[in-house]
Amino acid sequence: SGDILREHLKANTDIGNIAKKYVESGELVPDDVVEGMIADELKKTIYANGFIIDGFPRTVNQAKMLDKIIENTNTKVLYLKADDDFLVNRLSKRRVCEGCGKTYHLINISPQKEGICDICGGKLIQRADDREDVVRRRLAAYKELTTPLIEYYDRKKILFSVNGNGELIDTLTEIKKTFEW
Ligand code: AMP
Repeated sequence: SGDILREHLKANTDIGNIAKKYVESGELVPDDVVEGMIADELKKTIYANGFIIDGFPRTVNQAKMLDKIIENTNTKVLYLKADDDFLVNRLSKRRVCEGCGKTYHLINISPQKEGICDICGGKLIQRADDREDVVRRRLAAYKELTTPLIEYYDRKKILFSVNGNGELIDTLTEIKKTFEW
């Protein structure tokens, strides 16, 4: 959902103009805006055989809306658990390619040539909302509005928790095992 919102911001669409101040300050974009956007996105035929959504839902209202769309499907929810300090370090040192969107990290996933994307040669930039002060605001929004989803999905017995605090490869291995991929 964040990627789709950033596309709207870039293209100055109506959704982008509404969402801008929320995205830039680290707050959640209002439910009705995001829900309409996701409902439209999921109508695309590329999702017909299944999909992974990252970043949505982020509130119980959004989850209820999604329930209506994915009713009677085999849905699993991944709860990637990590500590605040770990997340602040991950996000504030994250860099993304302006051209192709590939993600890097100043320490863990550095490019071959500083500031340049290995894949497309694009410039690596820091997302405005990956600045430490904004990351902390995003974490506060997460705690207030998103954590109720843990219980919401646990009750439905479709919640799977994975430790996200470790090395990338360990987390990936645990996710694959959990979902039998
Ligand atoms: P992300 O790329 O998932 O970290 O999202 C970046 C920003 O986009 C968030 O801090 C919110 O401002 C906004 N956003 C993304 N997904 C949602 C969502 N499901 N509900 C509300 N706001 C969202």
